[in-house]
Amino acid sequence: DMHDTGWKRVVLKLSGEAFAGGSELGIDPSIVQFVAEAVAEAASEGIQVAIVVGGGNYIRGAELSEGGMERGRADYMGMLGTVINCLALQDFLERLGIETRVQTAIHMSQVAEPYIPRRAVRHLEKGRVVIFGAGLGAPFFSTDTTAAQRALEIGAHAVLKGTQVDGVYDSDPHRNPNAVKFDRLDYNEVLTRGLKVMDATAVSQCMDNGLPIVVFDLMGQGNIVRAVRGEKIGTIVCP
Ligand code: UDP
Repeated sequence: DMHDTGWKRVVLKLSGEAFAGGSELGIDPSIVQFVAEAVAEAASEGIQVAIVVGGGNYIRGAELSEGGMERGRADYMGMLGTVINCLALQDFLERLGIETRVQTAIHMSQVAEPYIPRRAVRHLEKGRVVIFGAGLGAPFFSTDTTAAQRALEIGAHAVLKGTQVDGVYDSDPHRNPNAVKFDRLDYNEVLTRGLKVMDATAVSQCMDNGLPIVVFDLMGQGNIVRAVRGEKIGTIVCP
Protein backbone atom coordinates (compact mmCIF):
# COMPACT_ATOMS: atom_id res chain seq x y z
CA ASP A 1 0.00 0.00 0.00
CA MET A 2 1.98 2.97 -1.27
CA HIS A 3 1.45 6.71 -1.01
CA ASP A 4 2.49 6.67 -4.68
CA THR A 5 5.39 8.83 -3.72
CA GLY A 6 8.21 8.10 -6.09
CA TRP A 7 10.58 9.43 -3.43
CA LYS A 8 14.15 9.00 -4.59
CA ARG A 9 15.88 10.83 -1.78
CA VAL A 10 14.70 11.12 1.81
CA VAL A 11 15.91 12.50 5.11
CA LEU A 12 15.46 10.18 8.06
CA LYS A 13 15.32 11.92 11.43
CA LEU A 14 16.34 9.73 14.36
CA SER A 15 15.74 10.97 17.87
CA GLY A 16 18.70 10.71 20.20
CA GLU A 17 16.44 9.36 22.89
CA ALA A 18 15.93 6.20 20.87
CA PHE A 19 19.68 5.54 20.87
CA ALA A 20 19.71 5.28 24.66
CA GLY A 21 17.38 2.27 24.63
CA GLY A 22 17.70 0.40 27.87
CA SER A 23 21.21 1.55 28.71
CA GLU A 24 22.07 3.95 31.49
CA LEU A 25 24.92 5.59 29.65
CA GLY A 26 24.50 7.23 26.26
CA ILE A 27 24.11 4.50 23.68
CA ASP A 28 22.55 1.06 23.61
CA PRO A 29 24.52 -0.85 20.94
CA SER A 30 21.62 -3.20 20.23
CA ILE A 31 19.45 -0.22 19.26
CA VAL A 32 22.09 1.25 16.99
CA GLN A 33 22.54 -2.18 15.41
CA PHE A 34 18.79 -2.46 14.80
CA VAL A 35 18.65 0.99 13.20
CA ALA A 36 21.78 0.38 11.12
CA GLU A 37 20.44 -2.91 9.74
CA ALA A 38 17.22 -1.23 8.66
CA VAL A 39 19.01 1.72 7.09
CA ALA A 40 21.35 -0.68 5.29
CA GLU A 41 18.39 -2.57 3.87
CA ALA A 42 16.65 0.62 2.74
CA ALA A 43 19.81 2.06 1.21
CA SER A 44 20.52 -1.16 -0.66
CA GLU A 45 17.17 -0.75 -2.45
CA GLY A 46 18.57 2.29 -4.18
CA ILE A 47 16.70 5.04 -2.37
CA GLN A 48 19.08 7.81 -1.31
CA VAL A 49 19.06 8.12 2.46
CA ALA A 50 20.42 11.03 4.46
CA ILE A 51 20.08 10.94 8.22
CA VAL A 52 19.78 13.66 10.84
CA VAL A 53 20.53 12.38 14.33
CA GLY A 54 19.31 14.04 17.52
CA GLY A 55 21.08 14.17 20.83
CA GLY A 56 18.39 13.94 23.47
CA ASN A 57 20.11 10.94 25.06
CA TYR A 58 22.89 13.29 26.16
CA ILE A 59 21.82 16.89 26.47
CA ARG A 60 18.86 19.08 25.67
CA GLY A 61 19.90 22.70 25.75
CA ALA A 62 16.56 24.04 26.91
CA GLU A 63 16.53 21.69 29.90
CA LEU A 64 20.11 22.48 30.90
CA SER A 65 19.47 26.19 30.74
CA GLU A 66 16.56 25.82 33.16
CA GLY A 67 19.23 24.73 35.63
CA GLY A 68 21.02 28.02 35.14
CA MET A 69 23.38 27.52 32.22
CA GLU A 70 23.48 30.02 29.44
CA ARG A 71 21.13 28.75 26.75
CA GLY A 72 23.52 29.24 23.87
CA ARG A 73 26.30 27.25 25.52
CA ALA A 74 23.90 24.53 26.60
CA ASP A 75 22.65 24.26 23.03
CA TYR A 76 26.19 23.92 21.70
CA MET A 77 26.70 21.09 24.18
CA GLY A 78 23.54 19.53 22.83
CA MET A 79 24.84 19.79 19.28
CA LEU A 80 28.09 18.08 20.26
CA GLY A 81 26.07 15.24 21.75
CA THR A 82 24.44 14.57 18.39
CA VAL A 83 27.87 13.95 16.87
CA ILE A 84 28.55 11.10 19.30
CA ASN A 85 25.40 9.42 18.03
CA CYS A 86 26.43 10.06 14.42
CA LEU A 87 29.77 8.31 14.93
CA ALA A 88 28.08 5.35 16.57
CA LEU A 89 25.65 4.99 13.68
CA GLN A 90 28.48 5.36 11.17
CA ASP A 91 30.41 2.59 12.86
CA PHE A 92 27.50 0.16 12.83
CA LEU A 93 26.61 0.98 9.22
CA GLU A 94 30.16 0.53 7.98
CA ARG A 95 30.47 -2.83 9.69
CA LEU A 96 27.40 -3.81 7.65
CA GLY A 97 29.27 -2.80 4.50
CA ILE A 98 27.42 0.48 3.92
CA GLU A 99 29.58 3.42 2.88
CA THR A 100 28.82 6.48 4.95
CA ARG A 101 29.94 10.05 5.44
CA VAL A 102 29.31 12.14 8.52
CA GLN A 103 28.99 15.86 7.89
CA THR A 104 28.80 18.23 10.82
CA ALA A 105 27.61 21.80 11.07
CA ILE A 106 30.34 22.48 13.63
CA HIS A 107 33.73 21.74 12.13
CA MET A 108 35.68 18.86 13.63
CA SER A 109 37.82 17.55 10.84
CA GLN A 110 39.32 14.58 12.68
CA VAL A 111 35.95 12.87 12.91
CA ALA A 112 33.73 14.30 10.19
CA GLU A 113 33.52 16.32 7.01
CA PRO A 114 32.15 19.82 7.26
CA TYR A 115 28.59 20.26 6.05
CA ILE A 116 28.89 20.92 2.32
CA PRO A 117 25.49 20.46 0.71
CA ARG A 118 26.66 19.81 -2.82
CA ARG A 119 29.16 17.27 -1.61
CA ALA A 120 26.43 15.61 0.45
CA VAL A 121 24.35 15.25 -2.70
CA ARG A 122 27.32 13.75 -4.53
CA HIS A 123 27.78 11.18 -1.77
CA LEU A 124 24.11 10.26 -1.98
CA GLU A 125 24.30 9.87 -5.75
CA LYS A 126 27.16 7.46 -5.23
CA GLY A 127 25.00 5.39 -2.90
CA ARG A 128 26.58 6.52 0.35
CA VAL A 129 24.50 7.20 3.42
CA VAL A 130 25.12 10.74 4.66
CA ILE A 131 24.73 11.42 8.37
CA PHE A 132 24.30 15.03 9.43
CA GLY A 133 25.55 15.98 12.89
CA ALA A 134 25.64 19.02 15.15
CA GLY A 135 22.21 20.18 14.05
CA LEU A 136 22.23 23.48 12.20
CA GLY A 137 25.30 24.60 14.10
CA ALA A 138 23.23 27.33 15.73
CA PRO A 139 21.57 27.51 19.15
CA PHE A 140 17.81 27.89 19.63
CA PHE A 141 17.10 25.31 16.93
CA SER A 142 16.33 21.59 17.08
CA THR A 143 17.41 18.59 15.10
CA ASP A 144 13.82 18.39 13.78
CA THR A 145 14.31 21.79 12.21
CA THR A 146 17.68 20.60 10.98
CA ALA A 147 16.02 17.65 9.27
CA ALA A 148 13.60 19.98 7.48
CA GLN A 149 16.34 22.39 6.45
CA ARG A 150 18.73 19.69 5.24
CA ALA A 151 15.94 17.97 3.32
CA LEU A 152 15.13 21.22 1.55
CA GLU A 153 18.73 22.09 0.81
CA ILE A 154 19.69 18.69 -0.62
CA GLY A 155 16.44 18.30 -2.52
CA ALA A 156 15.00 15.40 -0.53
CA HIS A 157 11.37 14.51 -1.14
CA ALA A 158 10.31 13.85 2.44
CA VAL A 159 11.32 13.98 6.08
CA LEU A 160 10.75 10.69 7.89
CA LYS A 161 10.64 11.12 11.63
CA GLY A 162 11.28 7.92 13.51
CA THR A 163 10.09 8.29 17.06
CA GLN A 164 8.69 6.42 20.06
CA VAL A 165 5.03 6.57 19.01
CA ASP A 166 3.47 5.04 15.92
CA GLY A 167 2.05 8.28 14.54
CA VAL A 168 0.31 11.50 15.48
CA TYR A 169 -2.66 11.36 17.88
CA ASP A 170 -5.28 13.91 18.88
CA SER A 171 -4.12 13.48 22.50
CA ASP A 172 -1.38 11.62 24.35
CA PRO A 173 -2.00 7.89 23.72
CA HIS A 174 -0.06 6.96 26.87
CA ARG A 175 -2.51 8.94 29.01
CA ASN A 176 -5.74 8.76 27.06
CA PRO A 177 -6.81 5.26 25.97
CA ASN A 178 -9.33 6.84 23.57
CA ALA A 179 -6.73 8.88 21.74
CA VAL A 180 -7.28 8.77 17.99
CA LYS A 181 -4.45 8.40 15.51
CA PHE A 182 -4.39 10.43 12.32
CA ASP A 183 -3.43 8.79 9.02
CA ARG A 184 -3.03 12.10 7.28
CA LEU A 185 -2.91 15.73 8.39
CA ASP A 186 -2.30 19.11 6.85
CA TYR A 187 0.30 21.44 8.27
CA ASN A 188 -2.17 24.03 9.50
CA GLU A 189 -4.00 21.48 11.58
CA VAL A 190 -0.74 20.41 13.17
CA LEU A 191 0.14 23.99 14.02
CA THR A 192 -3.26 25.21 15.20
CA ARG A 193 -3.96 22.12 17.32
CA GLY A 194 -0.42 22.00 18.63
CA LEU A 195 -0.08 18.34 17.60
CA LYS A 196 3.20 16.65 18.39
CA VAL A 197 4.81 16.09 15.02
CA MET A 198 7.93 18.22 15.04
CA ASP A 199 8.48 21.62 16.60
CA ALA A 200 6.63 24.55 15.04
CA THR A 201 9.73 25.92 13.30
CA ALA A 202 10.25 22.61 11.53
CA VAL A 203 6.58 22.17 10.65
CA SER A 204 6.22 25.67 9.24
CA GLN A 205 9.35 25.26 7.16
CA CYS A 206 7.92 22.06 5.70
CA MET A 207 4.59 23.80 5.16
CA ASP A 208 6.14 26.74 3.34
CA ASN A 209 7.92 24.36 0.99
CA GLY A 210 5.37 21.56 0.59
CA LEU A 211 7.73 19.01 2.10
CA PRO A 212 5.92 15.90 3.41
CA ILE A 213 6.60 14.67 6.95
CA VAL A 214 6.05 11.06 7.99
CA VAL A 215 5.91 10.25 11.70
CA PHE A 216 6.38 6.59 12.54
CA ASP A 217 7.49 4.19 15.27
CA LEU A 218 11.22 3.82 14.80
CA MET A 219 11.54 0.52 16.64
CA GLY A 220 8.74 -1.36 14.90
CA GLN A 221 10.05 -4.31 12.89
CA GLY A 222 10.43 -3.31 9.24
CA ASN A 223 9.23 0.24 9.83
CA ILE A 224 12.30 2.13 8.69
CA VAL A 225 12.35 0.27 5.38
CA ARG A 226 8.63 0.83 4.87
CA ALA A 227 8.93 4.53 5.63
CA VAL A 228 11.86 5.00 3.26
CA ARG A 229 10.01 3.15 0.50
CA GLY A 230 7.06 5.50 0.94
CA GLU A 231 4.69 2.78 2.08
CA LYS A 232 1.73 3.82 4.18
CA ILE A 233 2.91 3.97 7.76
CA GLY A 234 2.32 6.15 10.81
CA THR A 235 0.98 9.60 10.01
CA ILE A 236 1.78 11.70 6.97
CA VAL A 237 1.63 15.48 7.03
CA CYS A 238 1.49 16.80 3.51
CA PRO A 239 -0.09 19.51 1.33
N1 UDP B 1 20.57 21.86 19.06
C1 UDP B 1 20.75 23.19 18.72
N2 UDP B 1 20.65 23.57 17.42
C2 UDP B 1 20.35 22.70 16.43
C3 UDP B 1 20.13 21.34 16.77
C4 UDP B 1 20.24 20.95 18.09
O1 UDP B 1 21.01 24.02 19.58
O2 UDP B 1 20.30 23.10 15.25
C5 UDP B 1 20.77 21.43 20.47
C6 UDP B 1 19.60 21.70 21.37
O3 UDP B 1 20.09 22.05 22.65
C7 UDP B 1 18.91 20.35 21.44
C8 UDP B 1 20.08 19.40 21.41
O4 UDP B 1 21.00 20.02 20.51
O5 UDP B 1 18.15 20.20 22.61
C9 UDP B 1 19.78 17.98 20.98
O6 UDP B 1 18.97 17.96 19.84
P1 UDP B 1 17.42 17.53 19.90
O7 UDP B 1 16.82 17.98 21.19
O8 UDP B 1 16.76 18.01 18.67
O9 UDP B 1 17.54 15.94 19.88
P2 UDP B 1 16.39 14.81 19.86
O10 UDP B 1 15.22 15.34 20.64
O11 UDP B 1 16.03 14.59 18.44
O12 UDP B 1 17.05 13.62 20.45
